[in-house]
Amino acid sequence: MFCEVVGMKAKKNLGQNFLKDQNIIAKIAAEVTAFSNDLILEIGPGRGALTERLVSLNSYYLAYELDQDLKLELARFISPKRQIIFADFLKADLVNDLKKIPYENLYLVGNLPYYITTPILEKIISSQIKPKKIVIMVQKEVGWRFMADAHTKDYGYFTLYLRHYFNVTKVCDVGRDAFWPQPKVESMVLKLEPRENIANLDMEDYQTFLKRCFSQKRKTLKNNLGTTDFAKIQEILKQYNHDDNVRAEELSEEEFVSLFNHLNTK
Ligand code: SAM
Repeated sequence: MFCEVVGMKAKKNLGQNFLKDQNIIAKIAAEVTAFSNDLILEIGPGRGALTERLVSLNSYYLAYELDQDLKLELARFISPKRQIIFADFLKADLVNDLKKIPYENLYLVGNLPYYITTPILEKIISSQIKPKKIVIMVQKEVGWRFMADAHTKDYGYFTLYLRHYFNVTKVCDVGRDAFWPQPKVESMVLKLEPRENIANLDMEDYQTFLKRCFSQKRKTLKNNLGTTDFAKIQEILKQYNHDDNVRAEELSEEEFVSLFNHLNTK
């Protein structure tokens, strides 16, 4: 399934909306301050709109592109320091692929199909590859969710999960006309930079805890956690001046971590 304009093809099923706005391309590339001994990892280079600028830094370069039909078009970027793997990034043996490259810092860049934004970030986090910076294009609403503050409707489980690892900031908004073909939604570019001194938590348990806290957004924490667990954290909530009807979206990250630690030490 594809649309065709003056010889160009875009596969909708692979989320192919190619960047054509040079201004946006320059803004993304400007965030990647890699040196020659660093590695730039691009997910979904497509027809090479970003690649062109990224490889000009002379760093190591590795890309994953699912569309085999782009092999010919992307061949011009391949060199001893640059490799393109034509495979699904989500199924790739990332840690093993990276082991083969003697890089210092890792920069991750992607204008990705929006339906795989979250699985991609989960894969990066769980593989512990520790990028120095991630620069990604996301659907605008998803960007709001990733950057949300407490007391807003966008604040939720994934906001806190991501924030545990990264400082998330907006690079720029991106209109639909920056792409060919135009997507149905507005976009934004985000940068994710690793936080220092992150709390040492059992992340699997912390994720489960956060998911429970936000399981029904309109309900109180007490309702979502159940009476037994709620009773255990009641005194901590009081210390933070919260009453029994507090909802998850009213708690700061620091408060979630305190509640989680308290639940797990008693
Ligand atoms: N980066 C290019 C640009 O900005 O013009 C292409 C962007 S397009 C939104 C997304 C690209 O990701 C497409 O080339 C698509 O084939 C590729 N892609 C989709 N799913 C993928 C996956 N699971 N792994 C690797 N590449 C994927």
